[in-house]
Amino acid sequence: MRTQVGIIGAGPAGLLLGRLLDMQGIDFVILEQRSLDYVLARVRAGVLEPGTVQTLRDCGVADRLDREGLPHEIMQFRWNKTRNDIPLVGEDGSKLVTYGQAEVVKDLIEYHEAAGNRIIFEAEVAGLDDLEGRPVIGFTDGGTARTLTCDFVAGCDGFHGVSRKAIPEAEAHSFIKEYPFSWLGILAQAKPNRELRGFAHSTRGLAVASARSESLGRLYLQVPHDLDPATMSDEEIWAELDYRMDDGSGERLSRGPIIEKSVARLRGFVCTRMQHGRLCLAGDAAHIVPPSGAKGLNLAVGDVRVLSETIVRLLKRDDASLLDSYSEICLRRIWPTVHWSCLMSDNVHMFPGQSRFETMMQYEMLDHLVNSETGRLRMREAMLGRPYEI
Ligand SMILES: Cc1cc2nc3c(=O)[nH]c(=O)nc-3n(C[C@H](O)[C@H](O)[C@H](O)COP(=O)(O)OP(=O)(O)OC[C@H]3O[C@@H](n4cnc5c(N)ncnc54)[C@H](O)[C@@H]3O)c2cc1C
Repeated sequence: MRTQVGIIGAGPAGLLLGRLLDMQGIDFVILEQRSLDYVLARVRAGVLEPGTVQTLRDCGVADRLDREGLPHEIMQFRWNKTRNDIPLVGEDGSKLVTYGQAEVVKDLIEYHEAAGNRIIFEAEVAGLDDLEGRPVIGFTDGGTARTLTCDFVAGCDGFHGVSRKAIPEAEAHSFIKEYPFSWLGILAQAKPNRELRGFAHSTRGLAVASARSESLGRLYLQVPHDLDPATMSDEEIWAELDYRMDDGSGERLSRGPIIEKSVARLRGFVCTRMQHGRLCLAGDAAHIVPPSGAKGLNLAVGDVRVLSETIVRLLKRDDASLLDSYSEICLRRIWPTVHWSCLMSDNVHMFPGQSRFETMMQYEMLDHLVNSETGRLRMREAMLGRPYEI
């Protein structure tokens, strides 16, 4: 098989890159190791920055997002059993929008299917060759070994993918912070309560309550790494969420059947070498942010914008100027965002063995971010997202 751009991974990064290349008339093939059903059912992020929303609009894949997305103007924080609200509207009126990652992925796949674009599911990439010449992607398709020859490879295959491993000395150029706890995430058929949302720092750990739609709630609990979600009953999960979200108002979360439970580790990770020859990494393949900043999907969109322009200049104009500075441009947006996500994570969780003094320091930081003029400015800038260079 032959194409101009081989895209590895049909997550938000790979699917959006395909759409942006399509708009420029560049041919591509997306190789995805999982099945279509698996990819559509994956529940993950859900808070979209205004820039992400606008990018999806510019790509013509935001009709449903504009109809069903839930704009939010205020973010709630609870600590020491007290509620604090912070308005999160940009000077130009821009707002965050809640719209599940699974919906973004569905909209993009529907677009590609209607356009007849090639996405091969259950095609696992095993290796990459000749990245400095004419790249060849080796993959297995239904047990058969095949190759895809291309002019460029986009590694959009997430944290555990193969692309990063093809970059020489990637490990030596990687930075990682592992948190000593995980998040139990649930999806519940329960109308999210407007007065009980956002982050809650409690002495038993963090709770987060958010909405995916008017009738679906997405909620999280800080838990030990080794928690088996099957060992916690729905009743125990709701009781723990209520305990941690309690702010003395008497409000309780509306409950409903829990239709998905999963445990995810928290880590910060950046590989600063995002390009080698004709391979560039984008999204989780190059960086991971702890979810406390709700930034993972948004960062992937930022990378893909730079990557599509890099590919367009290279393949249409034989101009490699952006290729040489790809990592540098992306990292200018990645590092501050990773920093923000870690700052949030460091201050909303209870760490093992944490002293009362350290808890008071966290309260102080949260109070600064939510209630002081400079803190609010910082929070607004970080939550609404930095402007794009490209
Ligand atoms: C469990 C979990 C929960 C999360 N929750 C949140 C959240 O609540 N809020 C938030 O902001 N962010 C969250 N994130 C982060 C957010 O979902 C990611 O940042 C986002 O998915 C990044 O998109 P991506 O396309 O770069 O990577 P991915 O979405 O990981 O997509 C990569 C794709 O590549 C495929 N792939 C991997 N290896 C190969 C291979 N060898 N061959 C072919 N295909 C391959 C994978 O199957 C996958 O479809 C979560 C992430 C995880 C893992």
